Order: sequence, then structure tokens, then C-alpha cells
Amino acid sequence: MSFKDIVRDGLSAWDLPAPDDALARLEAFCSLVLETNKVMNLTAVTEPDAFAVRHVLDSLSILTCADLHGKKVIDIGTGPGFPGMPLKLYDPSLDITFVDSTQKRIDFIVKSADALGLSVTAFAARAEELIAKGMRANFEIVLSRAVAPLNILSELCLPYLRMGGQFLPLKSDNEAFAAELKQARRAIDVLGGALQGTRSYTLPGVEGKKCVVLIQKTGETPAKYPRRYAKISQNPL
Ligand code: SAH
Repeated sequence: MSFKDIVRDGLSAWDLPAPDDALARLEAFCSLVLETNKVMNLTAVTEPDAFAVRHVLDSLSILTCADLHGKKVIDIGTGPGFPGMPLKLYDPSLDITFVDSTQKRIDFIVKSADALGLSVTAFAARAEELIAKGMRANFEIVLSRAVAPLNILSELCLPYLRMGGQFLPLKSDNEAFAAELKQARRAIDVLGGALQGTRSYTLPGVEGKKCVVLIQKTGETPAKYPRRYAKISQNPL
């Protein structure tokens, strides 16, 4: 199957439309990542088919449980743009900010967005430091994939959310994650979040289940969070 067929079928299995222009943008981004990946380590994925599943469909799974249209979104620890870039390519109405501590990954995102005619905001910064630059409680949606265990990730991400906003991390749905989620309950609560549940999904040809975690901001995050990273990791909530 071609890249576009894989993405189209995956979206249709989730009852999501697959407009031709969105598929073309997603395919163009796939080419940019795989081409750049030859000279800069961006992803372990090297084939368009695997890219369609593990990066595009996995990122777009967020759309099965949240409406991002026109929303102010931030992707923390995005690497070369996951999950934020496929979501922006699918729906250019997103007002999206990318954050990663690695300059070369952010440079790649900015270059790709330029090449694809997309308007994005991107910062090469640590999430726990960037928050002080007028970013607190500034976003409606916070996204993050494969950055840290949920208790630590919550301290990095929940401070960015406005009241009523949603923190939607992508995780594996397995026993290890059940334990991780249990351990994160206190952190979520202390940081002003409320766990609303998880929404499981599968990816074509991939063993095991994945999930979107649904956390709503229902209270203020105390101003002392996020702490410095050494503190967060040595003494996690
Ligand atoms: N989200 C991407 C990349 C995951 S790798 C994906 O799913 O493919 C984790 C990324 O998080 C790395 O690029 C790393 O630079 C970044 N990162 C880790 N801790 C961070 C922090 N505190 N602030 C910002 N970025 C961070």
C-alpha cells in the first residue's frame, strides 16, 4: 500500500475525513523527514509505510477524542514534530507552538514549516524554563509523546494550560502504563489537573494498544511549579 492509502484507510477506520490536500502535505513532510534523516538523526523510522503508521496515524489519533480546530496548541518535547506537525498538516487552522530542548530539531521544524507554507511558532528551550517567558496558562491544548513518565511530564506540561484546557499525552496502553498512571494521580491533582480517562486505539500492523490520556485543567497550577529539572526528576510529584 502507498503512504497515502495507509493514512487514508487509518483515518477512515476512525471515521475521520482524509482530504487530498492534507494527504499531500503529510506525504511531503514524510519526504522531508526521511531525506533529512540521512544526515541528521531525527527518527528510527526509515520507510514511508512505517512513517505513515508510527508517526502520522499515531499523531492523528488525538483527533479521535479531541477537537483541535482553530485551537491554541503546544507540543512539548516534539523532536522533529510529533505529534504536532501531522496535526497541523491535517488541519492548518491550528495555532501551534513547538518546544524541544534540541536546537537542531527545532531548526528542522522551522525549515519544514517554511517549505510547506505553514505558519508555526517554535522554541528551542526546556519546557520548565520557557514557561517563565509569558507562557503560563496560555494554551487550550498541550500535547506530548515519548518525553517522560506521566508524573514528570505533568509538571512540564500542565502549567502551560488555561483553565478548562486539555492535556492529551500519547502513551502505550499496557500494564506498565497502568502503574505509571496510578503513580501520576497525585501529580495531576497537585498541578490542577483532573484525569478524565484514557482512549485506547490500535495502529494497523502494530502489536499492542496505545492510548490518548485525557486530563483537564480544573484548577490553577501553584506558581512554584514547574521546578528546575534536577528537582523534578530527583523528587517527582
Ligand atoms: N515527541 C517526539 C520526540 C520524542 S523524544 C516523538 O514522539 O517522536 C523526546 C524529545 O523530548 C527529545 O527531542 C528531547 O530533546 C525532548 N525533551 C526532553 N526533555 C525536555 C524538556 N524538559 N523540555 C523540552 N524538550 C525536552
